[in-house]
Parts: sequence; C-alpha cells; structure tokens
Amino acid sequence: MEKKASTATTGVEIGLDHDRIINLNMGDPTMFEPFWREFGDNATVVIPGWQKMSYFSERGNLCWFLEPEFANEARRLHGIVNNAVTDGRHLIVGVGSTQLIHATLFALASTEAHHPVNVVSAAPYYSMYPGMVDFMKSKLFRWAGDAAAYRGDDNFIELVCSPNNPDGAIRDAVLGNEMGKRVHDMAYNWPQYTPMQGAADHDIMLFTVSKATGHAGTRIGWALVKDAEVARKMVEFIEMNSIGVSKDSQVRAARILKVISDGYEFPNPEGVGQFFHFGRRMLADRWRRLRQALDASGRFSLPRFSLQFCEFSKEHAETYPGFAWIRCEDQKIKDCEAFFKSINVFTMSGRRFGAGAEFTRISMLDTDENFDIFIKRITYLD
Ligand code: PMP
Repeated sequence: MEKKASTATTGVEIGLDHDRIINLNMGDPTMFEPFWREFGDNATVVIPGWQKMSYFSERGNLCWFLEPEFANEARRLHGIVNNAVTDGRHLIVGVGSTQLIHATLFALASTEAHHPVNVVSAAPYYSMYPGMVDFMKSKLFRWAGDAAAYRGDDNFIELVCSPNNPDGAIRDAVLGNEMGKRVHDMAYNWPQYTPMQGAADHDIMLFTVSKATGHAGTRIGWALVKDAEVARKMVEFIEMNSIGVSKDSQVRAARILKVISDGYEFPNPEGVGQFFHFGRRMLADRWRRLRQALDASGRFSLPRFSLQFCEFSKEHAETYPGFAWIRCEDQKIKDCEAFFKSINVFTMSGRRFGAGAEFTRISMLDTDENFDIFIKRITYLD
C-alpha cells in the first residue's frame, strides 16, 4: 500500500500520468503535424465554391477521375526520391490505399473462375488484410492466411508489404514468381522510414499520403500499374464503389506533395523544411529512446536492422519503421498486449498479424506527448 502511494506520487512528478490511456494500437501518423505547422504554409488550399464541381477530371484518361495536378506531383515526388518506376505506368487514385487494395483484388480475380482466388501474405502481415479480403464474403476471393504456409493451387494473390507493417522488414514475395499474382503495398517505402534502395519496379505498387506525408485524413492513395487491363478494372471497381475520388482531396494532396518536392528541388538557404529529413530525425530520436528504455527493462526485444546505403540521402542510414514490433522475452508475461494494457498503453497483439501473443505492435507515429508518456511508463516499470 505504502509502495503504491509513493509510486503514484513519483508518477505525477515525472509525468507518468498513470490513469491516462495512451492509445498506440493504430498507425495514426499525427507525429508529422509539427512539420506542417512550421513549414506547411504553401500547402494551404482554397477552392472557390464554383470549382471542382464535375464528377470528371479528364474524360479522355483511363482514370477519368484523376486530377492531372495530383498525378503530376505524385510522379514528380517518385522521381525525386527514386523509390518507384513511374514511366509507362498507369496512375490510379483511390480513397486511401485501402480502396486500392479492394480495387486490386477485384481486378486480379477472375469473374469467370469457379472458385474464389486465394489471397495470402507472409506472417506477420498487416492486420487489416484478412478482414478486408473477407469483409464482403466475396465469391471472387478469400483470405487464405500466411503465404509461407500456403499449400493451395496456383490461383492466388500474394500481398507483399515492404517495408512490412508490423515489423519493418524489407520483403519480396515468398511464393514463386511463375505462379499467382502479386500486389506490392509500399505504404512505408519512403526515406523517413527506411534507406532507399532504388526504384521499385513491380507490376502493381500501392502508395498512400497517409504514411508518406502524414495526411491520413485526406484519404488519398495511388497505384502504379503496368498492365492497362488491370488498371481499367481497378477504375471500374472505383466507379462502382464511389464514382471516383474527391477532387478536393486530390488538390490538397497534390499541394502537399509539391511542398515536399519543392523542399528538395529548391532547398532554402538555412537547410530546413525538408520533410523526409525532418521525419527521419524524429523517428531516429524515438527509436533511440525506445531501444534504450526496452533494453534497460530487460523484458522485451525489438527487431534489429543493419545499416544500409540510402540512395536518396546518399549516406548510410538506419531503418526506423513506423511501428515497433515488440517481443516479450519475460516468460512470466504470456500476453504482451495484455501486459501493456495493464499500464494503460493500448497496443495491437501479435495474434492480429498471424503471429503469437508474445508479440505486440506499437505505433511510433503518434504525438510527441503520447510517445513521451509511453517511454516514461516503460522506463519506470515496477
Ligand atoms: N497498407 C498498409 C501496410 C498500411 O499500414 C495502411 C494504413 N495503416 C494502409 C495500407 C492503408 O492506408 P490508407 O487507406 O490510409 O491509405
């Protein structure tokens, strides 16, 4: 009783704020807000009441609801970062990459097939994949679990997330290239998270402003698609699903991407305002503090990443994923998520990612305030 009282007193003094729930179980990228507050004036968008009223953006384009301004800025940023080939690719815009995942599954599944196509991803996989695939109980596709354990027929779609959510690993497809189809979810393939390894050149690559810039609320994602027929079917899906994608959001996203590109093409003399460098510094600091706190506790481990040359920053760089994939090494802790819940920190259990309860995932992308309290709580564990 006495010990509890003294811990509580200390807790208040050092800002543990015991009763406050720190929710790190989602990947809401609010961490980047300080950058946009400080350097984002040019990202402000005003749309007069009479503008952007039509459903159509460019009637002649395969993706007729794609705002040219957005397409140009997305291609321009890829060119600057050199993280994906855009030449000869169709660019399809979607309501976040979430809608594009649905559109891709529709486009790759055959409406003539007698059985649904199996959709797999190597565990630990992004927790939303199983739910997204089976949500509509489609006759076109069904979730078939861990790609590494797949024993089904050649009719499959492998979702390849690289860098991977939840563990930050750089991944290739685990199932052979001769069979099946692949979708490369590259939401985190940006320099703040991982050293750039040159332009990715896959048939279908998905990106999103949510993780690239932090503007998850704008709900804009884009796909780079090699095959015109696949692209056409994706557009058909989006037509049936939402008759296109908000132009207002596309215009905003275009402006946001432009600010980032301008920061690199026309750097200011003080060398500030470069988004990826800013994000990288913040993540590096957070990862340093997290590793220090978890190492000191002796109860948890984190993935280790080797230093690699980053083709974008032209220096050796570490990997700082948007999520920390924590493993409880303490045999007394059977459920890592439950352990963190007991100190009022909400995380997402490894079970949600096709892994075990000894793992849990925490977001590294939350506000400074929440992250600080989280670090204090694990530093002062009983
Ligand atoms: N793919 C991955 C791997 C993600 O982590 C997320 C967001 N958590 C998404 C896709 C979806 O992002 P959005 O719909 O916001 O673009």
